[in-house]
Amino acid sequence: MTKALISIDYTIDFVADEGKLTAGAPAQAISQAIYDATQQAFDRGDYIVFAVDLHEADDAFHPESHLFPPHNIKGTRGRHLYGPLADFYAQHQEHARVCWLDKRHYSAFSGTDLDIRLRERRVDTVVLTGVLTDICVLHTAIDAYNLGYKIEIIASAVASLTEERHQFALRHAEQVLGADIR
Ligand code: ZN
Repeated sequence: MTKALISIDYTIDFVADEGKLTAGAPAQAISQAIYDATQQAFDRGDYIVFAVDLHEADDAFHPESHLFPPHNIKGTRGRHLYGPLADFYAQHQEHARVCWLDKRHYSAFSGTDLDIRLRERRVDTVVLTGVLTDICVLHTAIDAYNLGYKIEIIASAVASLTEERHQFALRHAEQVLGADIR
């Protein structure tokens, strides 16, 4: 089994108090767990992918422009990773098994070369961490399911705005996508 840990959107804008589209306290509460999960996966030899929203200012054609306030705008501090995970990335970003992937949509697979990169490395299992459990994490899980990957979600390393939304997404991933919730 070859695994890739996909680290989704754990940025200032989604996590910090001053973030433009922040999930706030529940997201901040996983900062150590997401760091630990990432470090352990790296130490095990897994491929680590930071899949991070990239938006342009005043992009009238992007569907999210009509749904959410502007966030993760190109060149802003809002796209920087939050907490200890930022230290992990700073330390390991040049490593061959660490990759930064700009994404345009919720799913890390939508419009990116993630599937190609995983297949090149014979990855068969994606391990999902990050925010929000019921948006970008769930949409990535659905695409992974459709592409034939096995899915693990580290429950302590994902978060959403509310416990209800978080639990719905974990239950859906487990019962409908066959995800292994750790
Ligand atoms: Zn977005």
